[in-house]
Amino acid sequence: MDRLENLVRSNILKLSPYSCARDEYEGQGAHVFLDANENPYNAPLNRYPDPLQKDLKRAIGRIKGMAPEQIFLGNGSDEAIDLLFRIFCTPSIDNVVAIEPTYGMYKVCADINDVEYRPVLLNDTFQIAAQDLLDATDEHTKIVWICSPNNPTGNCIKHETIVDVLALFRGIVVVDEAYGDFSDAPSFRKTLNTYPNLVVLNTMSKAWGAAGIRLGMAFSSTQIIDLLNKVKYPYNVNSLTQQEALQMLADPFQVEKWVKLILAERTRMIESFKLLPFCLHVYPTDANFFLTRLVNAPSIYQYLIDKGVVVRNRSSVKLCENCLRITIGTKSENQELLAALRCYR
Ligand code: PMP
Repeated sequence: MDRLENLVRSNILKLSPYSCARDEYEGQGAHVFLDANENPYNAPLNRYPDPLQKDLKRAIGRIKGMAPEQIFLGNGSDEAIDLLFRIFCTPSIDNVVAIEPTYGMYKVCADINDVEYRPVLLNDTFQIAAQDLLDATDEHTKIVWICSPNNPTGNCIKHETIVDVLALFRGIVVVDEAYGDFSDAPSFRKTLNTYPNLVVLNTMSKAWGAAGIRLGMAFSSTQIIDLLNKVKYPYNVNSLTQQEALQMLADPFQVEKWVKLILAERTRMIESFKLLPFCLHVYPTDANFFLTRLVNAPSIYQYLIDKGVVVRNRSSVKLCENCLRITIGTKSENQELLAALRCYR
């Protein structure tokens, strides 16, 4: 990897971050807070939240086996995605490389930040050679984006491929494991000490069943986490989210139960889809959704909408022609989808 100073935008390196009132106060035993221009009434919502979410990071760190200093928390992992562009990519000069097809926000954030986006097409088993990703890079490539398990294809990118990119690319490699909790593949966050250029993303929006609270995580070296903290909004994770997340983290077995249920339903749904006369293929998946190729996906998508069942039409995405992406729901939601499909003519 290049020296981190050579990868970070110079204005970000030089940046003096905003210092908020709650950053300044570190002592114990204070009980009168007249430092942050808050309203003294309406406790506890009158107070700004902890800007570095220390309690929450300790709880997440215990579950994920990470030191709090290696954790960034954001308003969804989408916040971390945008911040990584803003930290590393100089607009209209730098570029990023990503697998294609993949999660759409990498390109949207690239476009917003005026950063060239270089997609590299997966093969027909939705895998890629590390060399193909490396060949797409040049001296202005700052980040390689690898989503694994990948959205919308559902599969994990081969471990050796990601390891090769981490070892051979001199810039930042982001491994987005938003769906990692549904997969048996070991998380790349365990390899953070080996690869200083690695950032691993995870979220409470999927297996943790908490998309509504908007809490995303990035795991990385303390130096990269410090940069994320420097650039984020001072109070980026609100108190209600911090409080709710702490309560949920107190019961990690609930998540295991949900994952088990979802995976059992996924097997049942895939088997049922394979029996549908218009189903051409169901792609292997490591996530809480699967991609399926149908005879006429747009028409089936519309038919389902008319029945009040919404799935994701991915027909216009490269390599996903005539494909729908189906999220695994509750048993009765899945049943409603299957019942509707069985009546499709
Ligand atoms: N990464 C991937 C691969 C996703 O599919 C999503 C959401 N669909 C996200 C990140 C963003 O998740 P959130 O902002 O809810 O944490």
